[in-house]
Amino acid sequence: MGEFDVVVVVAGPAGSVAAYALARRGKRVALLDRARFPRPKLCGGLLTWKSMRLLGAVLGLDAPFLLESGVINYASDRYSIFGPRQLLAAGQLSFPFHFTDRNRFDALLLECAARAGAQVFEETQVASCVPHKGVVTTTAGREIRAHYLIGADGVNSVVRSCFPHDRVDRDRWKWNLAPAIEISLPPDRFPRPVDHPELHIGMLDAGYGWVFPNRDRVVLGICGLRRNISNYSNKFREYLEYLDISDPSGISLKGHPLPYGNYLEKPWCGRTLLAGDAAGLVEPLFGEGIFFAMASGLYAGKSVAKALEHGGNSARFYEQRLHGQLLPELKASDRLRWLLFRGVNLLGDRALGLFVRAASRRLGDMVHGKRSYHWTRKKNWDFLKGCQ
Ligand SMILES: Cc1cc2nc3c(=O)[nH]c(=O)nc-3n(C[C@H](O)[C@H](O)[C@H](O)COP(=O)(O)OP(=O)(O)OC[C@H]3O[C@@H](n4cnc5c(N)ncnc54)[C@H](O)[C@@H]3O)c2cc1C
Repeated sequence: MGEFDVVVVVAGPAGSVAAYALARRGKRVALLDRARFPRPKLCGGLLTWKSMRLLGAVLGLDAPFLLESGVINYASDRYSIFGPRQLLAAGQLSFPFHFTDRNRFDALLLECAARAGAQVFEETQVASCVPHKGVVTTTAGREIRAHYLIGADGVNSVVRSCFPHDRVDRDRWKWNLAPAIEISLPPDRFPRPVDHPELHIGMLDAGYGWVFPNRDRVVLGICGLRRNISNYSNKFREYLEYLDISDPSGISLKGHPLPYGNYLEKPWCGRTLLAGDAAGLVEPLFGEGIFFAMASGLYAGKSVAKALEHGGNSARFYEQRLHGQLLPELKASDRLRWLLFRGVNLLGDRALGLFVRAASRRLGDMVHGKRSYHWTRKKNWDFLKGCQ
């Protein structure tokens, strides 16, 4: 491997968008991932308005192209929210949710980064790094050096684990880590047709279940803080029974942790920035992570490019973007989730139904990112203002 300005550790949405942003600015970028793409990734694949706008504005991937190419395989502007016993709220949104298959989605983002000029190294697993020096060591024992590292290696980040202990509050990280279990079924194994996304609340203290439509499958899962639950697999099988899925015990389950309120305030150390799940940047109410991965990857890539071009501190540039654009949203959504989850525990799920019905348009726009999670404010995303 040659000389690089930046090594981006892994090619999920955060890493590929970071590598794309850097390569577009003529930087020498190595993008490493342990997988060969396309590779499977457990995810509901729901994309909000802000994700679609970012894909179009930053990567030139507009909705008609994504739909025609099959990378997005379903869209619906309707939703339903169920409590344990009844439908609580249902309605129409100002913009559809789009659904993607992550195998194809992640492969497309990787292709964008490669086309922009990033050098891609698949089947290259990172074993460790030295964040202050910008050195990465692979499991094959190869050392790669660069001026900067971007760690976008997901929730169990090796890069983050190499940060000094005082940089990450490990107890807080553990407390907020939510187990998530998800399966997909052929539509005829689901007891009824599913043509729009459904949320199911009330079975977890701080979490929810989902049923998402797709062209040729139904995706269902649960995610929530561990709190009083000792066996998550049993909880998921109860959910399958509640949904009237036949023979739930015969279905093999897949799980992956979700950073559900873990956002780090300072996800950097020395020459290294963290982005996406590695920095805990997932929205704490609905668990939306794809947008926050792409946006933080974009900001990390641009911050490093700026530091390479003009000198200065990449972390300072990154801090401005994170604290200006993403963290205020994550913090406001964190407050809202406790208000809603505690409200359900205290007042029952009917109260939530009343609230959602009364504020449905505003809530829908908040989830989509047209409106801020600060409730009264419109959200102005800088990547839509041509802020390069
Ligand atoms: C069950 C479930 C459902 C979800 N549903 C949704 C949803 O519907 N919508 C939504 O917006 N978000 C959803 N999320 C969250 C979303 O999947 C993540 O937030 C998002 O994938 C984070 O992207 P990332 O780029 O940070 O990391 P990831 O997508 O996790 O990518 C990490 C990459 O790291 C690679 N890797 C890891 N370690 C190493 C290593 N040591 N060396 C080399 N490569 C390595 C992996 O191969 C992978 O390619 C869901 C999550 C779960 C668990």
